[in-house]
Amino acid sequence: MTQDNSRRNEFLVFGSPRIEDDEIAAVSACMQSGWLGTGPKVAQFEEEFRAYKRASHAVAVNSCTAALHLSMLVAGLKPGDEVITTPLTFCATVNAIIHAGLTPVLADVEPTTMNISPSEIERRITPRTRAILPVHFAGRPCDMDALMTIARRHKLKVIEDCAHAIETTYHGQPTGSFGDFGCFSFYVTKNIVTGEGGMVLTRNEEDAARTKMLALHGMSKDAWKRFGDEGYRHYYVQECGFKYNMMDIQAAIGLQQLKRIEEYWGMRERIWQRYNQAFAKLPLTLPAPVAPDIRHAYHLYTVLVDQEQCGISRDQFLNAMTASNIGVGVHYLSIPEHPYYQSTYGWRPEDYPAAMRIGRQTVSLPISAKLTDQDVEDVIHAITGILP
Ligand SMILES: *Cc1c(COP(=O)(O)O)cnc(C)c1O
Repeated sequence: MTQDNSRRNEFLVFGSPRIEDDEIAAVSACMQSGWLGTGPKVAQFEEEFRAYKRASHAVAVNSCTAALHLSMLVAGLKPGDEVITTPLTFCATVNAIIHAGLTPVLADVEPTTMNISPSEIERRITPRTRAILPVHFAGRPCDMDALMTIARRHKLKVIEDCAHAIETTYHGQPTGSFGDFGCFSFYVTKNIVTGEGGMVLTRNEEDAARTKMLALHGMSKDAWKRFGDEGYRHYYVQECGFKYNMMDIQAAIGLQQLKRIEEYWGMRERIWQRYNQAFAKLPLTLPAPVAPDIRHAYHLYTVLVDQEQCGISRDQFLNAMTASNIGVGVHYLSIPEHPYYQSTYGWRPEDYPAAMRIGRQTVSLPISAKLTDQDVEDVIHAITGILP
């Protein structure tokens, strides 16, 4: 224990989810029912999530990575087709493109919104480009008017990575309903959680049915009913599918979380505003203001630490925060910083300068519905102590 009484006693875990008694009771009830795998809770979660997002069809899967992978297969993309995405994302976005047998192409971000730049997309279009995979970074929607115009003009599929953007709307329309597919994550650090989990939104019924089939080994529709009481049913394998289905235990957690999604959003919005106010005079670059015609999901609160202005490097800042018992994150080192992509695609960080700079300066501060007012004040106290 340190003598320094400005340091909190307990480590504040970054991105820790808020779990209430209802989730614990729901999991318990699910266990007692004996039906743990894909069943009625998954069907209910799909329906309630679909209604929340005002979408046509929803298919639950076991991760957003699986959701992205299946979306690209169901979109009919073929090996060698190019998919344009952002260099400022989690590796899963790019890996899913590669798993689908496709060729990832990066288009740099806009320095302020940190979202993929429409003009950079246009610059990267080739005769082999077949799809755009935008990520609504931190929960701020991409410029969907511009992106959909480009997609229409070049006849490209659009698959939205909405891992940060469950509550997001753009000009009143929910994210995940612009493109052909919208992919969501319920991983432990996301805005609502199921432990591991994901969802695909689709525009039409055939795409939803094929996604569902591919998520469960490629077995014919409603194969999960084969253990029910409606008499024995044979299943038939229609395609070589995957093991990507969500379990009822996960859906039971998700149903409880979904009930409080707006309440949690409001809690994160208050933290966001408190940070904005507390850091206004510090030499940090704060998140860009939220435009009036969008709804931000407030998934990440990211600040940029510029060594020239702050007197310390980003990595020194990360270490100082951790030493103050505050867990922080980096979203993200730009994709071309990683050795695998450098050696496989020859990507260099300097070729995507906006994403490179953000990746080298960014720090994500805790912004979860689990934080108490005191936790938020501890974060502020630590930062004002670290910076001049
Ligand atoms: C978390 C995340 C994913 C992957 O989600 P999983 O559910 O963990 O597979 C994909 N894209 C982005 C932008 C993410 O933040």
